[in-house]
Amino acid sequence: MARYIGPACRLCRREGEKLFLKGERCYSSKCAVERRESAPGQHGKARSAYSDFKVRLREKQKTKRMFGLVEAQFRKYYENAASSKGVTGTKLLVSLESRLDSIVYRLGFGASRKEARQLVGHGHILVNGSVVNVPSYSVCAGDTVEVHEKQKKNVVVQAAMASAQSRVIPEWLALDRDAVKGTLKALPTREQLSQSINEQLIVELYSR
Ligand code: SF4
Repeated sequence: MARYIGPACRLCRREGEKLFLKGERCYSSKCAVERRESAPGQHGKARSAYSDFKVRLREKQKTKRMFGLVEAQFRKYYENAASSKGVTGTKLLVSLESRLDSIVYRLGFGASRKEARQLVGHGHILVNGSVVNVPSYSVCAGDTVEVHEKQKKNVVVQAAMASAQSRVIPEWLALDRDAVKGTLKALPTREQLSQSINEQLIVELYSR
């Protein structure tokens, strides 16, 4: 599956807000969004016309980029959410948050979703005691997620965990720092998820 390999900070500048794609740097004064407010590119400083479509498109692009997905992957999440029971927008967000790479990031085993995805891809993550190397694997309520025994002292994991101490672990996850192990207590409710995403705009964009 294709993936974006360009500069991560450019994506944040394009969306005009922090997407937290680079780990520790995102929390420092080196963050590109804090240093340069304009969008990237030659016409970044130019004002562009407002339109409803543009607002919805940017919300979708922001969310897609935050989770490190390409259009085809993101659209599939939307279609699955739309075809299942419940509120489409909430279903979409819950399915994105319950991806294995996202859970690994939320637990602090990786400094960013990209780093978390790498840990999963390299077979360093166990779900319920078995290696799972598929970043899109959907974690279920009650599942345990832990770093492989051989990698628990890995400097990358240790550095990520140290920097994650200042971040709040979502209440729908339980973390045992000493065992480098976490549990998805229950699928999150909408109130427990990021309030910076307006999923209704994404639903409106795709259902046009
Ligand atoms: Fe985005 Fe992080 Fe780069 Fe800041 S440092 S622009 S939050 S990726």
